[in-house]
Amino acid sequence: MATIFMVETDCYVCGKKNRFPQSGPIMDAGSSRDLDGRPSGLGRSNIYMRVQRCIYCGYCNLEVSGGHEIYREIVKSEPYRAMLNSKDQSETANAYLCCSLLLRHSREWSEAGWSALHAAWICDDNKYSESAARCRKLAFDFFTKTRESNVTFADSLCEEQILFVDILRRNGKFDEAKKICVEALGKTVDEAARIILNYEKLLIEKQDSKCHTFEQAQEMEESGAF
Ligand SMILES: [Zn+2]
Repeated sequence: MATIFMVETDCYVCGKKNRFPQSGPIMDAGSSRDLDGRPSGLGRSNIYMRVQRCIYCGYCNLEVSGGHEIYREIVKSEPYRAMLNSKDQSETANAYLCCSLLLRHSREWSEAGWSALHAAWICDDNKYSESAARCRKLAFDFFTKTRESNVTFADSLCEEQILFVDILRRNGKFDEAKKICVEALGKTVDEAARIILNYEKLLIEKQDSKCHTFEQAQEMEESGAF
């Protein structure tokens, strides 16, 4: 069980003090992650505590104690305020999307992509399916920008391709997902990645856009499905 404690932080944008809940290290009990990397167990719900939102000025970041000079202006801007107060998804998803918007302005594409993907997970939990699809599209675009900047956004090229495939599949873009999946299968020699890509291919062929896990991919391999 992770320990929860409160931390006091000065906001980088307005200088006021906020208190945020934070958890100690989370031990994953070996349970399975989703195909897009969303953790299982306590890590799954911990994403609700990872993003901070200043209650005075609305600045959102993983650590509101820091940031870039330009953030001070963006936080006051109309698009940012609209995102912060949007009714299209929950407040926590708004916070991740605001965070993503700021990171886009500082050209931190990988972090912007991960923030958008976290927003999608929150939307999934709260059944905001249209918003979840919009967040995944944003994540896809930001991860593409990351690649174009010759920066990585996952531990390996193979993991990046799996992420692209899963984002497209979850958004019902089966043809595009299949193209990347088949291309990746033609190149990969990594056994674990091959199992996941084969499972993705199977899901794409069934036009299944639901959430699935690494554990299910493994079970499917053991059953001799591919
Ligand atoms: Zn503030």
